[in-house]
Amino acid sequence: MKFTPEHDEIRRSISKFIASDINPHVDEWEKAGIFPAHELFGKMGKLGFLGLNKPVEFGGAGLDYSYAMAFAEELGQITCGGVPMAIGVQTDMATPALARFGSDEVRAEFLAPSISGEYVACLGVSEVGAGSDVASVKTTARKDGGDYVINGGKMWTTNGTQADWICLLANTSEGPVHRNKSLICVPMKTKGVEIARKLDKMGMHSSDTAQIYFDNVRVPQRNLIGEEGKGFTYQMVQFQEERLWGAVSSLKGKERIINATIDYARQRQIFGKPVLHNQVVHFRLAELQTEIEALRALCYQACELMLEGQDVTKLASMAKLKAGRLGREVTDSCLQYWGGMGFMNETPVSRAYRDSRLASIGGGADEVMLMILSKMMGIAPEDPRKKN
Ligand SMILES: Cc1cc2nc3c(=O)[nH]c(=O)nc-3n(C[C@H](O)[C@H](O)[C@H](O)COP(=O)(O)OP(=O)(O)OC[C@H]3O[C@@H](n4cnc5c(N)ncnc54)[C@H](O)[C@@H]3O)c2cc1C
Repeated sequence: MKFTPEHDEIRRSISKFIASDINPHVDEWEKAGIFPAHELFGKMGKLGFLGLNKPVEFGGAGLDYSYAMAFAEELGQITCGGVPMAIGVQTDMATPALARFGSDEVRAEFLAPSISGEYVACLGVSEVGAGSDVASVKTTARKDGGDYVINGGKMWTTNGTQADWICLLANTSEGPVHRNKSLICVPMKTKGVEIARKLDKMGMHSSDTAQIYFDNVRVPQRNLIGEEGKGFTYQMVQFQEERLWGAVSSLKGKERIINATIDYARQRQIFGKPVLHNQVVHFRLAELQTEIEALRALCYQACELMLEGQDVTKLASMAKLKAGRLGREVTDSCLQYWGGMGFMNETPVSRAYRDSRLASIGGGADEVMLMILSKMMGIAPEDPRKKN
């Protein structure tokens, strides 16, 4: 992967912004269990950070995916997982399908203000009864006059308590579960949308996560993204960016924790020498750094293929799987070398340990990645529902 001075400039400007406008507030936002999304995204939108690879007509920079990837990599400098995840939802999880498949009218209404940072976006795929098995979502959107009437509920929606609109996956007809769904832009202020509760989580504290109900919610049919019935397919495409984002944005966070652990283990003396000077400790840290570099190479390779217009499902799924597992290894190993201090909420390693646990669950659990990969290898059976 060859980066240009323009990539470096994006890396420098987001790093500067993180140091001045994000990291000084992280502890306060973690404590509050929420961050001010409109305020932060407003600033980021003005600086052009929220639409690097989005179309110029709607306020984006029209750059290729490598610029968005370089930006995502720098988000790992943020000293928590919640804020970068919320930014990722805005740029790489709730908006890619809209940017790619939405009509000009719907993109002007929802994409443009999400790029400018005026609107906060969220993604409504998972439900109480349907997370890994996306095809089994139960929320419906039935046509009535020129509207869709939406009923159902979404669970674990990141940014959900602050969002202006949700990219909603709903069943728009009966029939085969992979061909009866659509993605619809639903303004969160619409009558019948209820934020049932803000969920209390083990980590990612600065990110708000909602359970949402939809009770006869009416939105115009023009809010449909692309074609009706293609929502499942669009969401699978959208997941590729989400999964790659998840992997690449984790790299510098993992390295940050290794570096903090090196500093701690260097100054902490036990049995007459620094903890770091035990071979088992520095060998382990060197091994983990090697794994991070291998993950980085995998992400960059996926990006190169994406730029060539190839399907990156395989590499994005591998990167997501590896990032989740490695996140657990890095934070668990590092926390151990901090001893009792590692168990204290005040140390960066304990926050990283809690936050990184999500990566093996959210956006498709490790096992879902393995399902995708084993299907691509031809060693797992097809979903029997696909025969319909
Ligand atoms: C903090 C947080 C933020 C989230 N944000 C969003 C969001 O913004 N939008 C959204 O739509 N969703 C969001 N999610 C939901 C997330 O994507 C789901 O939790 C995830 O997809 C797993 O679904 P589930 O929780 O229903 O687990 P289930 O589907 O019930 O699966 C439980 C476990 O079963 C195992 N499993 C799954 N499939 C297999 C298999 N084939 N073989 C063996 N084992 C298997 C896995 O270990 C999995 O963790 C978020 C979740 C969390 C916790």
